[in-house]
Amino acid sequence: MFYRKYRPQNFEGLVGIGNIKSSILSQITNNTFAHAYLFIGPRGTGKTTLARLFAKAINCQKPSKIGESCNKCEACKSINNGSFIDLIELDAASNRGIDDVRTLREGVKLAPSNSKYKVYIIDEVHMLTTEAFNALLKTLEEPPAHSIFILATTDAHKIPETVKSRCQVLEFSRAKMDDIVTVLDSIAKQEKFKIEKEDLVKIAKASKGGFRDAVTLLEQVVTSDLNVDDVVGSTDTQNYEQMISNLIEGKPDEAITLINDLYEKGVDLPVYTEGLVFYIRDILLVSVGQESLVSDEEKTLEKLKYFASKLNQTHIIKLIDVFTKAQLDFRYAVTPQLPLEIAVLTLLKSKEQVEIEESKKKDRAQLDKEKLVKSEKPNPPAGLPMPTHTGAQAGGVAQSEKISSLISNWVTIAEKVAGINSSLSSIIKNAKPVNIDKNNLTLEVYYSFHKERIEAVRNRQVIENVLAEFIGECVINCIIGEKTANKVTTKDLGLKNKGDLTDANVKNVEIDIDDLAKLLED
Ligand SMILES: [Zn+2]
Repeated sequence: MFYRKYRPQNFEGLVGIGNIKSSILSQITNNTFAHAYLFIGPRGTGKTTLARLFAKAINCQKPSKIGESCNKCEACKSINNGSFIDLIELDAASNRGIDDVRTLREGVKLAPSNSKYKVYIIDEVHMLTTEAFNALLKTLEEPPAHSIFILATTDAHKIPETVKSRCQVLEFSRAKMDDIVTVLDSIAKQEKFKIEKEDLVKIAKASKGGFRDAVTLLEQVVTSDLNVDDVVGSTDTQNYEQMISNLIEGKPDEAITLINDLYEKGVDLPVYTEGLVFYIRDILLVSVGQESLVSDEEKTLEKLKYFASKLNQTHIIKLIDVFTKAQLDFRYAVTPQLPLEIAVLTLLKSKEQVEIEESKKKDRAQLDKEKLVKSEKPNPPAGLPMPTHTGAQAGGVAQSEKISSLISNWVTIAEKVAGINSSLSSIIKNAKPVNIDKNNLTLEVYYSFHKERIEAVRNRQVIENVLAEFIGECVINCIIGEKTANKVTTKDLGLKNKGDLTDANVKNVEIDIDDLAKLLED
């Protein structure tokens, strides 16, 4: 891996974090360094690299006057080859519990085995549980003189203030384009790989200011047949737009296909995901009226506005959360596609839940409205035709016509549904379109059991698709009406026990199964 192979072995090799570097070096030479640091910054900006260089410098047996390690003594050599036992690296993403921190605390008490300082690097420290943070805090409050803690995080907001206040905080920013190009150029030269400056700039741009991503992209170009455009193609705005569209339209199969197509093309999925999070952030910015902050001129504002109109802020934040989590999961993933696939399915599942909740709310509101209208209206005099659809008073002629046309086509509609799902069709036959308001269609059913069946996500889709042929796109709401005529008892059907009730019964007894339904309800 290029990122490991070309990781700087001294501070001099660190590019782009001038201020942090000189501050740390002067602390080392003056022996004024802290016992706990918190490194904050985006992924791949050099936090753990700096932490390791720091651990090496304070343990080096022959450091230079400016604080650089010699890279020749035992301590330096063993840190460079990863065998130094007093440098303990813990990844809080996978060791986040109280027990992990307890083990660490036990170890902290023991003196370093063969060096000056024991250095603990805890990466992604924001992933620790609250209990683990509390345990860690105790150690940070009274650290033994021989121990140094370096906590690193991409998400500073999740670090408790109590922990932050015990640490010297250093903030890493995204690397500048020129700095990344310099690093890439140096690696390409050492690999004896010829690459145009223009292509290095493309890679640097695609990496969004993360050294690690930039180096990974370069490695793909160097070690495969892919050209730069193929590799950075992952960051084509189109691929982000496609993903967001699939999520909005609820198309899990197409989203998964997109992920696998990108993977087949050799696209680096962590880089793609990071770009995707940036894209979603831009949707968020547009949704709060901060269009001027949109980061990239290649993104069309039209499309961002469109997405912002389709998603509310809670949805957008959920998208950012879930894809950011996917980003962290890549390093443990069995296959590279998996974290993204899980993210997509998680989001679509939660979208489904949100929709169900919203439709339930709508139903309740609709039901309340219906009740209100019913109680306000006196019974019409006998013989006068009374429209069954309460919306007709407000909705005008067009809507009442729509309802009439739906009612006259209802048998055909039920037959079309039967072609897809026969038991659902018998429920539809028993439902009655009563109101249409814009594209919200209210169906009156007589049993809560029918309401539940119609509202099950898959069933809804079937019915709404069939209805689309008649009245265009619509959303169904069910209300439970009262029915008095044509009662058929369970006795009439020869069914006695609850266990006798099956879909088949419901299908065969197409009308008037009040008693069956009541049995099902209890
Ligand atoms: Zn040394």
